[in-house]
Amino acid sequence: MSASTTPGPGPRPSDGPDLSCRTALVTGAAGGIGRACTLRLATAGARVRAVDLDAEGLTDLVDAAAGLPGQVEAHPLDLTDLDAAERAAAGIDILVNNAGLQLVRPIEDFPPEVFSRVLTVMLEAPFRLVRGALPHMYARGWGRIVNISSVHGLRASPYKSAYVAAKHGLEGLSKVAALEGAAHGVTSNCVNPGYVRTPLVERQIADQAEAHGISPERVVSDVMLADSAVKRLVEPEEVAEAVAYLCGPHASFVTGASLSMDGGWTAH
Ligand code: NAD
Repeated sequence: MSASTTPGPGPRPSDGPDLSCRTALVTGAAGGIGRACTLRLATAGARVRAVDLDAEGLTDLVDAAAGLPGQVEAHPLDLTDLDAAERAAAGIDILVNNAGLQLVRPIEDFPPEVFSRVLTVMLEAPFRLVRGALPHMYARGWGRIVNISSVHGLRASPYKSAYVAAKHGLEGLSKVAALEGAAHGVTSNCVNPGYVRTPLVERQIADQAEAHGISPERVVSDVMLADSAVKRLVEPEEVAEAVAYLCGPHASFVTGASLSMDGGWTAH
């Protein structure tokens, strides 16, 4: 290999990125995936602003993070307050758009006000958070936006009109942020899990059992995992590891991407 084609000193393999000089914001931090992401980023040294409307869950998270290299600060906030959401994102280097909610109901029975709320929390708030975060990221010439999308950002399922619409919208927002941010050192990506073992899924199992008129066990085996080649739920820590990768130096060329971790669902 000639000197001109020899790879440069680049990042060294490690147990994960060093984020000790970074400030992150994670939404939905009191819940399953958001909590795991917060703890993972704090383990990598980041100072994490943990946003959720569940103040008690945030207190528990701050306790769980005691002793980690990075500090976790509780930031109780209802993301439907879009102005407050945008303000909360000022000065951050890493944004993890994760907060979400779900209602499983046929379109003709789907309450319009719930459709609005889902779109507000899962699409409008991410837009406002990105908007609030970009000036600082652009000024520093570095930023990471990670959107926790879903297999439902890439595929539809019946009875999930609001959720599927919001996630498809989030995929679009993520790609636009990737194109606009590239010149400023900002990447934007989606992570697309299949079913993750979290409170949101536990609630869905009960909802789907009612919608399909079958037992909770059959919801998991016959409905949730029907299209997954790997027959298990994903763990929140696996999603958090993908987020940490996307925030690290090895992922600086990965942008506008959707990282599927769906056990082969979208390989169909
Ligand atoms: P979860 O219900 O365990 O946690 C979601 C968190 O969001 C909760 O702590 C909740 O309080 C918070 N939240 C909801 N509305 C809010 C609001 N208005 N303001 C502030 N916080 C609010 O859910 P989870 O399973 O950890 O899901 C997290 C994300 O991952 C969601 O975007 C979800 O769509 C996505 N996802 C989940 C799965 C899964 O199977 N669990 C799969 C793919 C994608």
